[in-house]
Amino acid sequence: MNNKLSIAYFYPDLLNLYGDNGNVEIISQRALKRGIEVEVMNISIDSGFDASFMQKVNFVFMGGGPDSGQKSMYGDLVNNKKELLREYTENNGVGLYICGSYQLFGHYYKSADGTVLNGLGIFDLHTEHFGEKKPRCIGNTQAELSEIITNDPVFKNVNKLDTTLVGFENHGGRTYLGKNIAPLAKVVVGHGNNSEDKTEGAVYKKSYGTYFHGPFLARNPHFADYLIAQALQISGEELPPLDDALIIAAHTASKKLKQ
Ligand code: GLN
Repeated sequence: MNNKLSIAYFYPDLLNLYGDNGNVEIISQRALKRGIEVEVMNISIDSGFDASFMQKVNFVFMGGGPDSGQKSMYGDLVNNKKELLREYTENNGVGLYICGSYQLFGHYYKSADGTVLNGLGIFDLHTEHFGEKKPRCIGNTQAELSEIITNDPVFKNVNKLDTTLVGFENHGGRTYLGKNIAPLAKVVVGHGNNSEDKTEGAVYKKSYGTYFHGPFLARNPHFADYLIAQALQISGEELPPLDDALIIAAHTASKKLKQ
């Protein structure tokens, strides 16, 4: 077992809306409580970044941010980080990308003022913000995880809960998935990717994009442990259960929330 979780947290200064950084805290704490060593490495526009750095990493995280935050970092992302992130993702590196960064993993993001930000093109999807023509997608969310995840023995081993994700969303962009990517989940409550096709987020290899914003792993410990097990390349059985009574109560209560 790879007994060290090496987390690369990209753009913590620019993409941290609604406390997305809480996901890094949750992953770290859940690993530390199991005696797993954790290292969090922050990477931003001016950070040193190369292949030897990425070889040490087994979990990548990026949060979301408003259009202004995206505009200030996407040039660096696409010009300086694209190839190594593509290689990492294609080689089954584990990553979680929320809202604004999820959008930038796609082919492009057309923002409300019509500016087109070319994305990484790692995820086969694109996103468009229709400005005042369509309302923002805001509110509580609930979605049923894809069978890609629920049928995975690793998820079965770590899951002490159910097959639902709960959280909230706040985005203007609407994301449309292409043929070479699958949804992360099916919307039960909320808008998801685009408020039309009931898809929420995306899964490509071992990388996940989602519109569940803020520290959503706090209420979804099964998904947090799934990410940890995948990052450490273990079956999940090695992770002893934690005292999640309060967390499970919060998860269960969230399932009763209206949009
Ligand atoms: N600017 C993007 C949108 O509104 C992303 C917002 C976010 O990350 N919350 O769609």
